[in-house]
Amino acid sequence: MDKKIYLDHAATTKISDDVLESMMPYLKERFGNPSSIYDMGADNNSALQNARQQIANVLSCAPESIFFTSGGTESDNWAVKGSAELQKSRGRHIITSRLEHHAILHTCEYLEEKGYEVTYLDVDELGIVKLDQLERALRPDTILVSVMSANNEIGTLQPIRQIGRMLKGHPAFFHTDAVQAFGQIPIYPEEWGIDLLSASSHKFHGPKGCGFLYVKKNLALPSFLHGGRQESGRRAGTENVAAIVGMGKAAELAGKNMNRNLHHIVGLRDHMIHRIEKEIPYTHLNGSRNHRLPGNVNISFLDTDGETLVLMMDIEGVCCSSGSACTSGQASPSHVLESIGLEPEISKGALRFTLGSDTTREEIDYTVDHLKDIVKSVRSMAKE
Ligand SMILES: *Cc1c(COP(=O)(O)O)cnc(C)c1O
Repeated sequence: MDKKIYLDHAATTKISDDVLESMMPYLKERFGNPSSIYDMGADNNSALQNARQQIANVLSCAPESIFFTSGGTESDNWAVKGSAELQKSRGRHIITSRLEHHAILHTCEYLEEKGYEVTYLDVDELGIVKLDQLERALRPDTILVSVMSANNEIGTLQPIRQIGRMLKGHPAFFHTDAVQAFGQIPIYPEEWGIDLLSASSHKFHGPKGCGFLYVKKNLALPSFLHGGRQESGRRAGTENVAAIVGMGKAAELAGKNMNRNLHHIVGLRDHMIHRIEKEIPYTHLNGSRNHRLPGNVNISFLDTDGETLVLMMDIEGVCCSSGSACTSGQASPSHVLESIGLEPEISKGALRFTLGSDTTREEIDYTVDHLKDIVKSVRSMAKE
């Protein structure tokens, strides 16, 4: 197979042709600085406002609530550190979950070193946070609850609306890392009681190094970067105009095609899970069967090793990822697979396929056909 089959959309996605086309003028003739007052600058400023509106349309929110950043990691850092700084006189307690992305977990650990106290919510065996534990963990000095909308490894969707409802009478801010969810499933921060929301352009077919943070109206989140007056004085630095224009276009397309894509991708996902479970013995689906991102298939193959499977699938032209991170030569299960209580024998053989809107049924069938043979040969090698 000459063509690559790309089934790693949770890691990053391809810029779509329309997105690239929308960006090109801003990399060429329309290179002006949006802060300049002559035409070429002002035009670029209106391009930024257009992108802000395109994103706001997907979230059904005010465009003034959208602040451009360098990506999901910056948005997560800004939301957590900014919330901590803004409310430091009110409290120093933060609640998050065990299966957050490292952009949240490592930021929380940093704040712990600075004297903040962090409660890490447990998740059940499907990866869903325990709402009763959240309710018990809330205190008068809790300043922030940060729970992701959808997990990047096992695809589990969190009960974001219920959390928003629970926090209604509480002064703590509610942040959600929606990097995996934005553009794939509907999210309405204003209606759902979400104060802060992170997203990243390259996870929804926009360019890398660009993202945004939704900040609820009247929430005076302090600046993360200090300098010029860009982004209403909240995020200094000359804007990455071309990337922001591309992100706006990608958001518009994701919003416009959301229902169609969702239907298509869920169909392929369920077809893939069904075939694997029927045709390959000794498997275990990780995460929830129903509360799951449209394109996520995370399955363990017992008596195999995820990294070996990834390398062997790569030889067949299929890009996917494993559930473990190789640290100092020793593969250890990811914190997400650990958080759902998987035995090491099960997490060791975890593979993640994440499907996209241009994934085809032929690609899925090709992948499962080869996966069958590869799992069989890895298992027989293990016996020798
Ligand atoms: C990819 C990802 C991030 C980081 O986003 P970048 O734009 O790559 O910095 C944060 N959270 C989740 C859930 C992600 O999947």
